[in-house]
Amino acid sequence: MKTVTIIVPFYNEEESVDIFFSHIDETLNDLTEFNFSFICIDDGSSDTTLDALKKQQSVRDLEIIEFSRNFGKESAITAGLDNFSADIAIIMDSDLQDPPKLISEMLQQIQKGYEVVTATRTDRSKDSYFKRTTAKWFYKAHNSFSEIQIPENVGDFRAMTSQVVQEIRRLRENNRFMKGIFTWVGFKTTTINYSRPEREKGETKWSITKLWNFAVDGITSFSSLPIKIWTYIGVVIAIISLIYALVIITRTLIFGIDVPGYASILVFILFLGSLQLISIGLIGEYIGRIYMEVKERPIYVVKRIHKKES
Ligand code: UDP
Ligand code: MG
Repeated sequence: MKTVTIIVPFYNEEESVDIFFSHIDETLNDLTEFNFSFICIDDGSSDTTLDALKKQQSVRDLEIIEFSRNFGKESAITAGLDNFSADIAIIMDSDLQDPPKLISEMLQQIQKGYEVVTATRTDRSKDSYFKRTTAKWFYKAHNSFSEIQIPENVGDFRAMTSQVVQEIRRLRENNRFMKGIFTWVGFKTTTINYSRPEREKGETKWSITKLWNFAVDGITSFSSLPIKIWTYIGVVIAIISLIYALVIITRTLIFGIDVPGYASILVFILFLGSLQLISIGLIGEYIGRIYMEVKERPIYVVKRIHKKES
């Protein structure tokens, strides 16, 4: 019998824990050909999430990884994968936005020989207009800059074989853009479509600043084009400037000195000044990330692993 471990990050989800497990039980009870266990990460919750998880531990095969503070979902997933030892891993959210009933189809695809099964949201109408459009821009920007193409509207919800997990474990970068990391390792992948439901309980943990940083992380983690492109922009501007300089010199030689020009000079100075600031800022983004990486800090700190007493 194949063993399947479901990895679920929890951050202040006290209201979601019990509902999550009751929904998932309905699905798993029908899947008798697999042996299921759970790795739940308590990502530094300040509410009673941990107690709720411990309560669940008494009735099922569940390991709780308790973080020393909040490290973020990407770190929580990493910890889950680091502690994984089954045949198949499934990563899902605790708020039931990743429908448990897809698990059975995901496992079928794995049985068919796929090594990774992702889930594509076909319907984002429940997301705000803002989130939908910014997400679209992000995928566009990321995929045109980056060496890897991340599929649109695919979240972290996925199943993968232990071999894929092994490979993901070798990527120890601190800027953990999991969607990129998952895609980077490759393997035979298929996707199933679903319509993403609304959160059952509680609130989303994403603020606009968090989303922005996440997007910048995503692009800088897998592409150096944003800093390299300035060489070419510089070259193009230099050529244009040269032509313009020749025009001005010739004009001055033929028609004499022409003093007005305040507006154009100011426009050029401001334009070039801001271009320089943008490019320096972008270099700063990368240097900041290099700085974080060279420190080689651990991706997360575990306070305690609560194993099931048997
Ligand atoms: N999460 C986490 N650490 C965080 C933020 C979120 O472990 O710092 C978990 C959260 O408990 C949930 C999942 O990540 O299981 C997805 O979070 P959320 O529903 O807030 O994201 P959204 O679905 O809005 O993208
Ligand atoms: Mg959610």
